[in-house]
Amino acid sequence: MAAHIIDGKTVSLKIREEAKQRAAVLREKGIIPCLAVVVAGEDPASLSYVKAKGKALAEADMEGRDIRLPAAVTETELLDLIANLNNDEKVHGILVQLPLPRHIDENKVIAAIDPAKDVDGFHPVSAGNMILGRPGFLPCTPHGVLALLKELPVSLSGAHAVVVGRSNIVGTPLANLLTRRNVNATVTVCHTGTKDLARHTLQADILIAAAGKPALIKPEMVKPGAVVIDVGVNRVEDSSAKNGYRLCGDVDPAVAEKAAYLTPVPGGVGPMTIAMLLRNVIQAAEAVKI
Ligand code: NAD
Repeated sequence: MAAHIIDGKTVSLKIREEAKQRAAVLREKGIIPCLAVVVAGEDPASLSYVKAKGKALAEADMEGRDIRLPAAVTETELLDLIANLNNDEKVHGILVQLPLPRHIDENKVIAAIDPAKDVDGFHPVSAGNMILGRPGFLPCTPHGVLALLKELPVSLSGAHAVVVGRSNIVGTPLANLLTRRNVNATVTVCHTGTKDLARHTLQADILIAAAGKPALIKPEMVKPGAVVIDVGVNRVEDSSAKNGYRLCGDVDPAVAEKAAYLTPVPGGVGPMTIAMLLRNVIQAAEAVKI
């Protein structure tokens, strides 16, 4: 039987609606939740993500401060801008769109963000809090995947989750969140050093692909009845498409014949990432002492 396709858009809209209601409560207290989004350069994927974030903020009656910088911006200029945003009481969250131009040290820039405004959850303080299970900002994509999994009529406790990818923004935090007591999965992390990837993926009750490799996960690598979450967003050339490319995930669509549940690309994890970002901005604004 074909997999049930998980509609990330619908789940994300519920979370965005909840954010909108919390934003309205804050507005009554004179606080307008505000996210500053900093983009350096003209990377087309970054610009399209930023546009989607701005639209989501506006729809939730939150403020988006769009800050566009030339690709030639210096590291010092960027760090000065972050310092100003840290001190700006009207700004509750700061998001620096990655990747940054090569001459800028991303780690230095992320570390310069006030952890109280780190709504992307990439600051070392946020990462540390997450690992220790303390309150803080969770990174949006892993948190979105978790929220999606919790919507399914599937028990996560004791399930074997296999995460393909170990990046700091997706695979590693996701593996951590899945092992928390409130999820209770047993986790295997696969990466470029993994020998015989299929041997591991075939054992997964929950398979999460976050490798950035188009159609890496084939049907023969999936256990029948598994839950498959496709985090990948890859641009592949397509001469029949208007802009010359199309988006595809890390999971071969034919996996739908093996899996019980599958997220589509686009329309699966992507919308959840934005919804969790809005939730983090609200969390930051609610923490403001008045
Ligand atoms: P990354 O390149 O930083 O990390 C990829 C990871 O996958 C690495 O840890 C690597 O070891 C592993 N990997 C690569 N090829 C592999 C292979 N053949 N076998 C096993 N492991 C392999 O990428 P990232 O930033 O973690 O993003 C991963 C994917 O998720 C990308 O397609 C990205 O566009 C997408 N993404 C989507 C969202 C969203 O909101 N939907 C958010 C962030 C990233």
